[in-house]
Amino acid sequence: MAQASKNARIGSGTHKHLCPCGGEVKMKSVFAEGKMKHHAECEKCSRVERKPSDFR
Ligand SMILES: [Zn+2]
Repeated sequence: MAQASKNARIGSGTHKHLCPCGGEVKMKSVFAEGKMKHHAECEKCSRVERKPSDFR
């Protein structure tokens, strides 16, 4: 029964990604061109990638 609690910490960043600069990468949602777009942005250097996993 070592099931990691799936419901823990919802809303406080389930996946934490770090930019190479050391900043924290946050997901952003932008409503543009009639649809929601999501991108990942570093809080520190403002680098933007399509996915958090692109920060490498
Ligand atoms: Zn950065």
